[in-house]
Amino acid sequence: MKIKENELDKIVNQVISSLNNKQNSNDFNTKINYGIFSTMDEAIAEAVKAQACLQLNYSTEAREKIIKSIRKNVSKHVEKISEMAVEETDMGRIEDKIIKNNLAINKTPGTEDLRTEAFSGKKGLTIVEEAPFGVICSIAPVTNPTETIISNAISMIASCNGVVFNSHPGAKKVSKYIIEVLNKVIMEAGGPENLLTAVNEPTLQTVESCMRDDRIAMIVATGGPGVVNAALSSGKKAIGAGAGNPPVLVDDTVDLKRVAKDIINGASFDNNLPCTSEKAIVALESIADSLLNEMTNQNAQLVHDIKALERVILNDDGSINKALVGKDAAFILNKAGLKAKSEDLRLVIVDVDLRHPFVQKEQLMPVIPLVRAKNFNEAMEMGVDIEEGNRHTAIIHSKNVDNLTKFAKKIETTIYVKNAPSYAGIGAGGEGYATFTIAGPTGEGLTSARSFTRKRRCVLVDGFSII
Ligand code: NAD
Repeated sequence: MKIKENELDKIVNQVISSLNNKQNSNDFNTKINYGIFSTMDEAIAEAVKAQACLQLNYSTEAREKIIKSIRKNVSKHVEKISEMAVEETDMGRIEDKIIKNNLAINKTPGTEDLRTEAFSGKKGLTIVEEAPFGVICSIAPVTNPTETIISNAISMIASCNGVVFNSHPGAKKVSKYIIEVLNKVIMEAGGPENLLTAVNEPTLQTVESCMRDDRIAMIVATGGPGVVNAALSSGKKAIGAGAGNPPVLVDDTVDLKRVAKDIINGASFDNNLPCTSEKAIVALESIADSLLNEMTNQNAQLVHDIKALERVILNDDGSINKALVGKDAAFILNKAGLKAKSEDLRLVIVDVDLRHPFVQKEQLMPVIPLVRAKNFNEAMEMGVDIEEGNRHTAIIHSKNVDNLTKFAKKIETTIYVKNAPSYAGIGAGGEGYATFTIAGPTGEGLTSARSFTRKRRCVLVDGFSII
């Protein structure tokens, strides 16, 4: 029996539609792993296979098509992953995680970030291209679990790499979910299976074995000092995106009402989980009380019983109590036996001196210390002391161009935000692209596709130069 062409089309469409429906059901097909494996060995082997396929068969345009599809289709999961992340990690704010995830999806650069350099002259033409490393071991923090995975996935696919993700054990469910969604979207866009992989049960041992594996060409560690040091001592090419403790300087040339709003918005964004968020205010003595006034007139509360806060925020050894990281301001006050002025309080302020542990330690919670400086020079010195050479982020509010410039030169941070909340530095309300892997220690800065490439030179002598 002969099948007519239009009948054949109908049958093909029905098969495709039934396959799509199956994949859309959220009930992931057991035969397809969508990137999740029970052992690290399998996770690496599958990513190696997928990356080889990507490098051999997919042009830059084909990779861009996959990225476009990620931007379009992963957006549909943003609310769900933001809710899942808050529920699983018990940290942060859903509405802010939605903003962060959208930022990762829409503002992480794609293949347009890659550049070819050319040298031409009498001797011919030489080009330098940005080539993939191969398979990258990417380690993500609990504070931005899905944002880091999405942003790294876009950058690393743009640069033609495969990725083995190592999520924080405290965010394993939501991380697994987003890796499955990403793989599904990649495959629907015609990309290879298992381009992004992970193990079902991430632990410190699985990260270590991933970092050590010979098939891993590069390590990208986003997290605190422990993981960054482990990556840097691995003997492999490593990008370290480590901790920060961003100071925010305020001088006497600014509209304090606007500054109060910016600091509250930046320091309480996702309950201060971003490594870029304002962690300590350094205010000139002449305006410190007025600034506190403006902040407490808005949604911040000045707490005088500092001992009560110390008892719950600091452990006996002086370290930060992780159980309060990313919690709401009212919850923290309640734990300390203090009363919040409202349940939706955004920020707690304490007036302390420079050496106080709340100033010196990265707290990652909506409790911000304020220290007073006699003059701008002292404010700058305090800012440098607080930042501790992390080379991460600093913020300043000033209309004095000399002050803006002097502090920028002195603090030497990767991100320097002027007259805006800290998140302007990662593209939220400021110009420039977004990333959730800010590599201060190793110097790549705000990472993008080209950070995950190695340069290869191709030389043709006596040809192709047209001048
Ligand atoms: P963390 O260092 O505890 O964990 C980060 C990741 O590293 C996790 O996946 C964890 O399982 C793994 N890990 C931890 N110690 C390790 C070790 N010794 N060997 C191998 N893997 C290890 O950090 P966190 O609490 O998840 O995240 C918060 C920290 O990350 C803060 O210090 C914050 O400033 C920093 N951070 C930095 C950036 C950046 O771009 N620079 C972005 C987000 C978070």
